[in-house]
Amino acid sequence: AAPGGVVPSAAPASEHLFARAERVTPGGVNSPVRAFRAVGGVPRFMVSGKGAYLTDADGRTYVDLVGSWGPMILGHAHPDVVAALQRAAASGTSFGTPTPGEVELAEALVNRVAPLEQVRLVNSGTEATMSAVRLARGFTGRTKVVKFAGCYHGHVDALLAAAGSGIVTLGLPDTPGVTGAATADTIVLPYNDLALVESVFAEQGGEIAAVITEAAAANMGVVPPLPGFNAGLRRLCDQHGALFILDEVMTGFRVSRAGWWGIEGVAEGWAPDLFTFGKVMGGGLPAAAFGGRADVMARLAPAGPVYQAGTLSGNPLAVAAGLATLNACTDEVYAAVDARAGDVAGIVSTALTEAGVAHLPASAGSLFSFFFTDAAAVVDYAGAVAQESVRYAAFFHSMLDAGVYLPPSAFEAWFVSAAHDDEAVERIAAAAPAAARAAA
Ligand code: PLP
Repeated sequence: AAPGGVVPSAAPASEHLFARAERVTPGGVNSPVRAFRAVGGVPRFMVSGKGAYLTDADGRTYVDLVGSWGPMILGHAHPDVVAALQRAAASGTSFGTPTPGEVELAEALVNRVAPLEQVRLVNSGTEATMSAVRLARGFTGRTKVVKFAGCYHGHVDALLAAAGSGIVTLGLPDTPGVTGAATADTIVLPYNDLALVESVFAEQGGEIAAVITEAAAANMGVVPPLPGFNAGLRRLCDQHGALFILDEVMTGFRVSRAGWWGIEGVAEGWAPDLFTFGKVMGGGLPAAAFGGRADVMARLAPAGPVYQAGTLSGNPLAVAAGLATLNACTDEVYAAVDARAGDVAGIVSTALTEAGVAHLPASAGSLFSFFFTDAAAVVDYAGAVAQESVRYAAFFHSMLDAGVYLPPSAFEAWFVSAAHDDEAVERIAAAAPAAARAAA
């Protein structure tokens, strides 16, 4: 039985695949967040996706509210993306030389995000944040990095401290294999506590190379920055000569054409020194990037001495999928995604309220999640982990049985796409009341 006494339904084909997977892959998955550890049962093995829907190995279809953890803003197998990939594949998959597509993708990013003067393409968000931190250290000649508890920046050794996402889902206190030396220069502070950041800068400002923060935290459930938090980080970095790194791997090109910066930074008149991107910009293929101020990026090899490289960086297929995705992300797409996110969040919240389940809806742009708590606000990691996440297992399995695929953890954001049409939303609306009662 799963947490909360839930009995997951049978899924014979997925169960058979999972048994095979467990023999050859640790825990049967290639990324821990795909496992059903927190909700019980075996993960569904998906064989295809189209628009808002996924189909599993048993032939069941689901409305997908995970969206590959962020990339699939257009839905699955979008015709433009498929066509771009077919064209690119027919011309060869990797050359290990510069290609025209890389220039086009870099220009597409730079054109969308005004403070982004130069970018380097990489293959994952992890590489992007790892490289941005190295560059910040190389640029400033300083060693320390400030990160916030509950913010996930990929599985970079130096940043795997109080890292949210799969770490909190699995209830791990920390990660064996990351040495004390690797995190000795990492200062972990509570999210949204600007006064504490200020006092740390007052004491150690001369040693701090960078502050890295999720543009809006969404790896401990969604916890938006309090008004003035990001702007305050910018101000403190300026006062002490540190770089401000805005991690937009999840929010970039998703919450707006110019990401979270495009919403909050534009309104408040601040910009980071460096950004990190991933997910949407790869259109479902492995592409990510870091970039920002040209004088900082000029320190990167081969222009400068800070080394960073990648055999498959700027891969032609990934670039083609990313470009096709960004080109299809019109204002109408962002408006549709925002509206659908609001619809789904409203439906689920109403169902939970009607079932008497204490919860707190949380959102940042089109990212949203729910905390099972009667607290009036969740502003940091301590608040996020204090929720009754055991209720989520019952909710999750009821939705799954009704054909709605949610993140298998209460600590992850939910994602909608522009392909989530009325029919998809109706399926969610039909499933939510019983799921909410199951969670009561
Ligand atoms: N940064 C943020 C904010 C993320 O959400 C993630 C992944 O979820 C990463 C970095 C790491 O990206 P990747 O999984 O592509 O390595």
